[in-house]
Amino acid sequence: MEFRDLKKQYEVLKSKIDDAVLQAMASARYISGPQVKELEQKLAECVGVKHCITCANGTDALTLALKVWGIQEGDAVFVPDFTFFSTAEVVGLEGATPVFVDVQEDTYNMNPDELEKAIKRVLSEDKLVPRAIIAVDLFGLPADYNRIRQIAEKYSLYLLEDGAQGFGGAINGKKACSFGDISTTSFFPAKPLGCYGDGGAVFTDNDDWADLIRSYAIHGKGTDKYDNVRIGLNSRLDTIQAAILKIKLDAFADYELDSVNQAAKWYNEFLSDTVKKPIVFDGFYSSWAQYTVQFESMVQRDYVQEQLKEKGIPSMIYYRKAMHDEGAFSHINYDGCCPVTEKLCDTVLSLPIHPYLEKSDVEYICNTFNNIRR
Ligand SMILES: *Cc1c(COP(=O)(O)O)cnc(C)c1O
Repeated sequence: MEFRDLKKQYEVLKSKIDDAVLQAMASARYISGPQVKELEQKLAECVGVKHCITCANGTDALTLALKVWGIQEGDAVFVPDFTFFSTAEVVGLEGATPVFVDVQEDTYNMNPDELEKAIKRVLSEDKLVPRAIIAVDLFGLPADYNRIRQIAEKYSLYLLEDGAQGFGGAINGKKACSFGDISTTSFFPAKPLGCYGDGGAVFTDNDDWADLIRSYAIHGKGTDKYDNVRIGLNSRLDTIQAAILKIKLDAFADYELDSVNQAAKWYNEFLSDTVKKPIVFDGFYSSWAQYTVQFESMVQRDYVQEQLKEKGIPSMIYYRKAMHDEGAFSHINYDGCCPVTEKLCDTVLSLPIHPYLEKSDVEYICNTFNNIRR
């Protein structure tokens, strides 16, 4: 059994993807071929945002947003303590300081109350200038944007949505990657919408920022690539990856998103209540990048993972370490902000989930899981 079955997906889409890749190769327009623009239009439409700019990966996508806002040394950027490293890494890369905010135990996403506390603390310390919030749609579920947006406005902070895991999610019909002043996603193969290598995208409704993002993504270009008006990156999505994504986006919208939600429903139904299952509040819709449960202790979690492994069932621990515990951030004084994150790191386990998981697979996983004595 695969944790995320990308081979199965390829088998289903093989003839279309093979055609598209061969066509892209024959055209010899390997960089910025027409497929890239076509994909950007499709993605923007799908998300309901005016501009989509593709780039080399989800980390660069975040970096591009921070560059547009001129985030720099002396600035504070509020990030969840429970996330993939990139979310905080990009802040450090710009010389700014990530301020870690605890998450909600039920949703794994940034806790708006803790966010406001952290902002007030930074303001009262008067050492850093609060500039932006990066909210993450962890495991496919949009963060609590109704409240986070209010807080961003109250303190005049930019809101960046890190939708690397969130593509396909929604709140009351409004799509993920449309909640930030700028939003980003990743097309890393294992994300909800993945390509066959690295890829990413930036979304915004702001025309000026869209122009700036395109500039920063291509060596700080002015009128063209050989007119360089600012220091930027070399961050583009390959034509071949765009061709693949056009096909995968159709499959994603047509049935994959429904299928992965069906798989989550089966888990909710078959998994025993001795474990804490993921909660999706009313009005929210997840794209289930992960199906993550919580145990009472690390000992219990690690034991169950070992037992599942013996039965051929892969599982993963996202994430074992809080951001504030990462060696790269050891210079940042940890003030005990994030007890929920610390607990989650010890107790979470992600089970196999993807659109091609069969009901019988979920039944097998759940039966095995439920029969482990703990
Ligand atoms: C994967 C991921 C990223 C980075 O995406 P890459 O394409 O791997 O650079 C950023 N943030 C989160 C939350 C992620 O899961």
